[in-house]
Amino acid sequence: MNKPKYIFVTGGVTSSLGKGIVSASLARLLQSQGLNVSIQKLDPYINVDPGTLNPYEHGECYVTDDGAETDLDLGHYERFLSINTSQKNNITTGKIYQNVIEKERKGEFLGKTVQVIPHITNEIKENIRNLNNKNNLDLIITEIGGTVGDIESLPFLEAVRQVIYEEGPENSMVIHLTLIPYLSATGELKTKPTQHSVKTLMELGLKADVLVCRTEKVLSDEIKNKLALFCNVRFDCVIQSIDVETIYDVPIKMMDEGLDKVTLEKFNIKKSEPNLDKWKNFLHRLKNPTHQINIGLVGKYVELDDSYKSILESLIHAGAENEVKVVVNSVHSEYLDKDNISKNLSQLDGIIVAPGFGQRGLDGKIRAVEYARVNKIPFLGICLGMQMAVIEYARNVKKIRYANSTEISEKCKDPVIDLMTSQKEIVNKGGTMRLGAWDCEIEKNTKSYESYKKKLISERHRHRYEFNNNYSDRIFDDKFIVAGSNPDTKLVEIVENTHHPWFVGVQFHPEYKSSVYNPHPIFVNFVKASLKKYLNK
Ligand code: GLN
Repeated sequence: MNKPKYIFVTGGVTSSLGKGIVSASLARLLQSQGLNVSIQKLDPYINVDPGTLNPYEHGECYVTDDGAETDLDLGHYERFLSINTSQKNNITTGKIYQNVIEKERKGEFLGKTVQVIPHITNEIKENIRNLNNKNNLDLIITEIGGTVGDIESLPFLEAVRQVIYEEGPENSMVIHLTLIPYLSATGELKTKPTQHSVKTLMELGLKADVLVCRTEKVLSDEIKNKLALFCNVRFDCVIQSIDVETIYDVPIKMMDEGLDKVTLEKFNIKKSEPNLDKWKNFLHRLKNPTHQINIGLVGKYVELDDSYKSILESLIHAGAENEVKVVVNSVHSEYLDKDNISKNLSQLDGIIVAPGFGQRGLDGKIRAVEYARVNKIPFLGICLGMQMAVIEYARNVKKIRYANSTEISEKCKDPVIDLMTSQKEIVNKGGTMRLGAWDCEIEKNTKSYESYKKKLISERHRHRYEFNNNYSDRIFDDKFIVAGSNPDTKLVEIVENTHHPWFVGVQFHPEYKSSVYNPHPIFVNFVKASLKKYLNK
């Protein structure tokens, strides 16, 4: 097995500088030179995973094939690299402590006082190294969440120090992502905050090998020299990361700045020219659209892009594939009523009803489904959006007036969406939904089959409720059909309206599997149908 090189990415000055994007971009550059790379994220919060977090707190919860509920940065890793991540790629303080406490209860530390050092740090180190297990990786990029100096990230940074000590400096490096603020009053870029955060790193026994500097203005050689001198890094290891139009520009920018070059030099790995033809082709299509269409995203977390990150990125991939610019109109489902619905939705070329949990904004979602169905606007319902499509059809077409989901009304008369039997006894909320990859068999002559062009697919899930098969006969007919179901359990996976240009509801989350190199067929075909509607206006 390969002995991998370890790259640690830390953050200084502020959070939200885009460590995930820089890490994914570097990984893309290394992967495009034939190296086997993976990335992981260490999150210092105490939640065992982000599954129980409100998207307002921490953005979308991303789900992997193996059913882990993870940080949204894993979505960037998969979208940039076309790799499959797993639960090993996201570790939180909560998970580390949970593992250590379980070991303690089993008696694995019998006789010993269990402490942050060595027990917690050992567990962290094991989890960092464990990513290589069977993967035969050349390089492991480990992104440390938060900002240096945070109390809660201390054990992680101490573990990083120990890994570097054990692996040797020739096999490990630290990339510090920092902010160079611009003071418009004096017209200056300031290096002091970066000097301080590098000093904080040093107090923890870590030396930054490379500085990636987020900036809105070009860094002069003078500024770079100053940063190099005071932060103790080589001049060519001060990498400028200037604001760009799209996150998909970052790999190219990082290559131009030489981030992959200095990384490989550090490890004595011969650099070759990254093959980015496919990436550049995607960028070209993204930036040269032939048309512009409007898609409505109907949801309840519309104020923050991060809440629906993967859906938005999937639309970007699908837009580029169709050479069309997709403008996403956020539609707040809570405020959609019968008086304003036409004003809000009539200009749209396509409508997505988003996933979600709980009662808030549901009436608006059902109205949006009805509007899309009746007005023949291309429609994609995802998870809760698919469930609402079923309820809408049951109520408005099949006249099952009290059709509902038991998530909303536990004792409703007609539970067309109901808890899976396996879910009925479950009390704990964390990690207990139907999660991860499940098979779906697609019916021929459906929009889904046209999209996937195959019968058996596997998609990722994150839900507790399902279509209640006791209602199959009353709801489905030749106009509203089951286009895909699980081959073993017969759970409904896809519904379609056949008397409509493009109306598809999916119980799974296609957005978790769209990447730059493999835009998701459902999004590609939804955008294609929306473009058709736009062109026929
Ligand atoms: N709340 C619904 C369920 O649990 C849908 C979940 C979702 O949209 N991810 O089944």
